[in-house]
Amino acid sequence: MGAQYVYDFSDGGELGRELLGGKGVGLAEMTAIGLPVPAGFTVTTEACREYMRLGGTPPDGLDEEIAAAVTRLEERTGKRFGDHADPLLVSVRSGAAVSMPGMMDTILNLGLNDEAVEGLARATGNERFAFDAYRRLVQMFGEVVGGVEGRRFEHELGALKAERGVTEDVELEAADLRELVSRFKDLHPEFPQDAREQLERAVRAVFDSWETPRAQVYRRANAIPDDLGTAVNVVQMVFGNKGESSGTGVAFTRDPSTGEPGLWGEFLTNAQGEDVVAGIRTPEPIAAMQERLPEAFDQLTATMSRLEENYREMQDIEFTVEEGTLYLLQTRTGKRTAAAALRIAVDMVSEGLLTQEQAVARVDPRQLDQLLHPMIDPRADYDVVARGLNASPGAATGKIVLDADRAQEQESAGQAVVLVRTETTPDDIHGIIEARGVLTAHGGMTSHAAVVARGMGKPCVSGCEALTIDLTARRIRLGQHELAEGDVLTIDGGTGEVIVGEVALVPPSIDESFETLLGWADQIRRLRVRANADTPEDAAKAREFGAEGIGLCRTEHMFMAEERLPLVRAMILSSSEDERRGELERLLPFQQADFEGIFTAMAGLPVTIRLLDPPLHEFLPPLEEAESEEMARRIRALREANPMLGTRGCRLGLLYPEIYEMQVRAIVRAALAVAERTGEAPLVEIMHPLVGFAEELRRLRRLTLDTASAELEQASRQLDYHVGTMIELPRACLRADEIAAEADFFSFGTNDLTQTTLGFSRDDAEGKFLTHYLEDRILETNPFETLDVSGVGDLMRIAVERARGVAPEIKLGICGEHGGDAPSVAFCHELGLDYVSCSPYRVPLARLAAAQAVLAERGVTAAQVGG
Ligand code: ADP
Ligand code: MG
Ligand code: MG
Repeated sequence: MGAQYVYDFSDGGELGRELLGGKGVGLAEMTAIGLPVPAGFTVTTEACREYMRLGGTPPDGLDEEIAAAVTRLEERTGKRFGDHADPLLVSVRSGAAVSMPGMMDTILNLGLNDEAVEGLARATGNERFAFDAYRRLVQMFGEVVGGVEGRRFEHELGALKAERGVTEDVELEAADLRELVSRFKDLHPEFPQDAREQLERAVRAVFDSWETPRAQVYRRANAIPDDLGTAVNVVQMVFGNKGESSGTGVAFTRDPSTGEPGLWGEFLTNAQGEDVVAGIRTPEPIAAMQERLPEAFDQLTATMSRLEENYREMQDIEFTVEEGTLYLLQTRTGKRTAAAALRIAVDMVSEGLLTQEQAVARVDPRQLDQLLHPMIDPRADYDVVARGLNASPGAATGKIVLDADRAQEQESAGQAVVLVRTETTPDDIHGIIEARGVLTAHGGMTSHAAVVARGMGKPCVSGCEALTIDLTARRIRLGQHELAEGDVLTIDGGTGEVIVGEVALVPPSIDESFETLLGWADQIRRLRVRANADTPEDAAKAREFGAEGIGLCRTEHMFMAEERLPLVRAMILSSSEDERRGELERLLPFQQADFEGIFTAMAGLPVTIRLLDPPLHEFLPPLEEAESEEMARRIRALREANPMLGTRGCRLGLLYPEIYEMQVRAIVRAALAVAERTGEAPLVEIMHPLVGFAEELRRLRRLTLDTASAELEQASRQLDYHVGTMIELPRACLRADEIAAEADFFSFGTNDLTQTTLGFSRDDAEGKFLTHYLEDRILETNPFETLDVSGVGDLMRIAVERARGVAPEIKLGICGEHGGDAPSVAFCHELGLDYVSCSPYRVPLARLAAAQAVLAERGVTAAQVGG
């Protein structure tokens, strides 16, 4: 016998998530700690991988193992599968190792057929219930296994309700449902009557669903590997649709939007699982359950504490109450907003469930970004035209689009859109990914739209009852207002408000849990975190987010400002050095004022200023707009075939030393002025870009020192400052020893270093061949987002070793966009850099990622604390 492919829930969860899948491991663990879980078994992900490897054939022995597991289930439940009197019914549920909400399809009530349904009706004394279960099976089986379109069933159901003059499913009577079953079977005549055949085909269909386009899109969007496969869980059915003492719900152990402690969720009486999730009926808040089914509610509350103690993590569960008895059908780590993640981590430390270190390890740094998403300006004046549920916080403004394809299209064309749907399904995923926000007419806080949007940190308002959509006319109605696709709408997913037109948005503020958790992170991390900031405003923002200095201040933006551009152009077009010096003299006060602003905002902290970097022609107008023959000549002369590799960076400074001299003088004067005004001298670092040869830096260092000394002498003042270089060429990495002899510090400019190492021009890669590379998995990640550790990273490692070999005290940092990417930060920690520098909004992320890098060394990771 080869591998074992099937395990009972009562075998326990030790085999782990990889093999049993998330759902399977949860069911097994809950069974092990004595919680009420229906009996069942799991077919492993390995069976699925084998099935795929064999091109869609079950591996040897699988069918036999499943048959044996069914026999054990029959013994345990005392019912027989396919029995005509009182049949055993099961659900067949997919469950991959990584949660993929709504991606895979579940079939309920499997085991029913034309005779068993009569037996079930007799055994339960409830004919309506039996046929309700059967019609659901025929539909789900038809959709998932038979490939019949869901809307054809919906259409039949709608038609029957119309014929009977009712609006709700629950108003249909037993005879109606009997009729519905027969109509449904006409839509799928091959529906198998044999229970074991149903099971076999359902298991295969779950395996097959791993490869559906929507599952692939989801995996791509969430960086989930394609070769994991899914497990299949076969679970004895329990019934929430047996009348008013039954029901089904979804609950979280804490509020997933705010993190507030206490049970949170939704509940529907007399309903089966899918009804809540699919957003077909809008459910009631969980508090309603306390009134209707008090005993089951108390049991649920106790169960939730038990779960949190066990997992030390907020849980998201599915439950069903069958005639007053509670059953748990699923548990998993609850998705939450960034605000809730922070609050829960901090609260769990005070509740004694986690240590500070574990709390820091727990929060996903990428999520912090969400907190810094826009909200509606509290001072804005606006009229709320409709309200829905506040399903996922943040505000979004954009044009209304009514389908996912159009949302994707318009966003790619640079339009901001809000996706407006009656409800969303997994087929809408690509539209949700692109849209700024999502608004749905139906569905609760746990509907598909709500869950997916929360996971992405995207604003969502669901269950907006005032909304109706006319897809033929491409118009919507929001209460009194009629709007067309393309009109602008604003939604606030934090309050559930819907507003016609555009409203001013503001960045949100930071709360107490944020400060607490990041404070803990700061105590743990070794890497320092700086920001890339070119203006005093950015510098101030960065400081507010905890930046410990500026790692990159680019001076070219100062050259681009409107009132300066004429001076810059005159400088570039000068026909002699003297003339150029004259123009530079007029630019100097502007640069000095900029530096003063930045030094003031960063008082007491280091500020790295990079001297002019881009090719000069970037400052000139296009040739057609040349105002004179002389100007046209100069523009032509400066034009380069390949500016990225042309006269830029330190090459400019060596060709036109007067430009860098002016910049150094402006820096020194600004530093002196700020020192005088505030009594605190800034820690100035002057950085030369794009150095490849030690000789370049040797000359520019000389220029810097001479110019600064002259300024200081003239002012009879002293100033501590450093001179260093960006490392952004492979040659600079290789010859880091020679270059280090001329430098007080290095800052890895990993944007250009990635371009020059990979030979990729970023502008020509993204949206073009690089997109293709990522889709085809030639590359796993975008090297401009996450550092190419084995290529670019290896060059960095060489540079660090060679530089420290000759200059052990040299200060090393990174200032590419990678400084704000968690895995890249972890790599910088491992390399032993002194600091990372990133955009102001990413500073919190980098602080947290730097702490997690230390914790990983100590063996404290999110996975080990239940995440
Ligand atoms: P998903 O991953 O889409 O949530 P699930 O497999 O969890 O799919 O099942 C869909 C719905 O059916 C859930 O609400 C679940 O609680 C319900 N369900 C699944 N199995 C059973 C069962 N054996 N008895 C009752 N309800 C079930
Ligand atoms: Mg589902
Ligand atoms: Mg589920």
